[in-house]
Amino acid sequence: MKILKSYARGAWHEAASNSPFTDLVDPSTEETIARASSAGLDFAALLAHARERGGPALRAMTFAERGELLRGLSKALRDHRGELLEISARNTGTTKHDGGFDIDGATGTLAYYGGLAKSLGDRRVLADGEDVQLMRTDAFFGQHLLVPRHGVAVHINAFNFPAWGFAEKAACALLAGMPVITKPATATAMVTERAIEILVAANLLPEGALQLVCGSTGNLLELLGAQDVFAFTGSADTALALRSGRNLLAANTRVNLEADSLNAAVLAPDVAPGSPVWDLFLKDVTREMTQKAGQKCTAVRRILVPAALADAVEAALGERLRAVVTGNPSDGSVTMGPLATANQLRDALAGIAKLSTAARIVVGSGQRTDGVAAPAGKGFFLAPTLLRADSWRTAGVVHEHEVFAPVATLLPYDGSASAAAAAVAAGGGTLVTSIYSDDPAWTRGVVGGAGSFTGRIYIGSSASASEAPGSGMAMPQTLHGGPGRAGGGEELAGLAGLRPYLQKVALQGARASLQEIAAGV
Ligand code: NAP
Repeated sequence: MKILKSYARGAWHEAASNSPFTDLVDPSTEETIARASSAGLDFAALLAHARERGGPALRAMTFAERGELLRGLSKALRDHRGELLEISARNTGTTKHDGGFDIDGATGTLAYYGGLAKSLGDRRVLADGEDVQLMRTDAFFGQHLLVPRHGVAVHINAFNFPAWGFAEKAACALLAGMPVITKPATATAMVTERAIEILVAANLLPEGALQLVCGSTGNLLELLGAQDVFAFTGSADTALALRSGRNLLAANTRVNLEADSLNAAVLAPDVAPGSPVWDLFLKDVTREMTQKAGQKCTAVRRILVPAALADAVEAALGERLRAVVTGNPSDGSVTMGPLATANQLRDALAGIAKLSTAARIVVGSGQRTDGVAAPAGKGFFLAPTLLRADSWRTAGVVHEHEVFAPVATLLPYDGSASAAAAAVAAGGGTLVTSIYSDDPAWTRGVVGGAGSFTGRIYIGSSASASEAPGSGMAMPQTLHGGPGRAGGGEELAGLAGLRPYLQKVALQGARASLQEIAAGV
């Protein structure tokens, strides 16, 4: 039986055999494939190692040097893509394509930030905005600088992106000059453990720049201080519990949260059945419901359609969803794998029952199914499930409860931009909203009404259809995060992704001296 190790203070740590272990299972067969425990780790020592070794080493490097490092990390993972995909299939139940979404997302984000660093060049601080004259002459000016925080970035990630989740956070922290302690969700930690093993073996990172915790974080969060950063991705309930920790509040540790999201796809009334935008809408919604078995924070949960088009959408989407082959990803015919854990399946079934109080199931059974190429009665399989409510206005629980599975609800609305925006807002804050229209006035209306309730708006139109990658893809150039229920956090968005890890300081003095400082070192 494989025992997952943590990477702490420059060495691999395995918990003693009599420690309390958590089992990791193959979600297609329910076979136990590994065990994890962080028992025996001294979290104060991990923090000290990062603060005393990793931080100073990273801060001594220029942005260009840190970028070089990120590009090296990206390449090292890319070189092991096939192996990582196999582990992902076994530990998380992903098809090759879905596993690629995670692994390629990780390498792509590391490479993107590596490239971005080139433009920052041989400097160790960033100027924030233009300098400004504060007195009568240029003898006294002001300039804001961004400098690396002298602490540790502690990252806790969700089970659904064991590679990308780790890499997108680590890329920003390392480029900013902060050492990282990363903790994957235990259920899918095999992928992260192997990824870190590859990166350690590549021997690119300074000592103390990256440590891994497999298993519980023990008292780690209670030891964080004012220079540290805590970034979390997971459920809203865990986010609330962790952010309320007395120490984080008392120390004013910087906290960034990514949580639940009831993302909406909105079809406009100008889109005719059979048109290119109609086809894009159906293709996107099908993908965003079923990719990674719907276990994406950016998956579509609410599908808003003009009431007059609801029957046509139900029929066309139903046809696509029924064509999905659910089963063990080791079989080439399978297009959607199982849910990742028994708990996920249990929660999804309970969630469908909850949604059924406000909507009726029109595709799927709301029950577990057997999967193709999986033993009968085994595996956490749930076929794509579509529900339909009479109106978005009476669908209460659909706007409140996230079912983290291939499950979404059709919500008819009256076709107006104002109703579409109000329905998006009813989700209480989301990561992404996709809208499908060739009508600029309608599109502007939805953006104006819904913009402050969602982190990103993806616009599908005839002009964008040829390149549009689907609303679920969080790209490093643009914001990932959302207000309210989505956690209120902000990640990625190019250079802005470094902000949690940089401290802003205002300099005041002679202009020439400020310019010299801002230019460099
Ligand atoms: P979760 O149960 O909240 O767990 C998230 C992480 O928190 C895991 O690493 C978990 O570790 C850890 N954790 C739980 N309790 C903890 C504690 N007391 N102290 C320290 N760490 C603790 O969420 P999940 O089931 O992994 O992920 C699904 C959720 O994540 C969904 O709600 C989804 O919407 C959300 N999500 C959001 C985004 C986003 O970007 N907004 C992205 C992906 C997922 P263990 O596994 O060891 O318990």
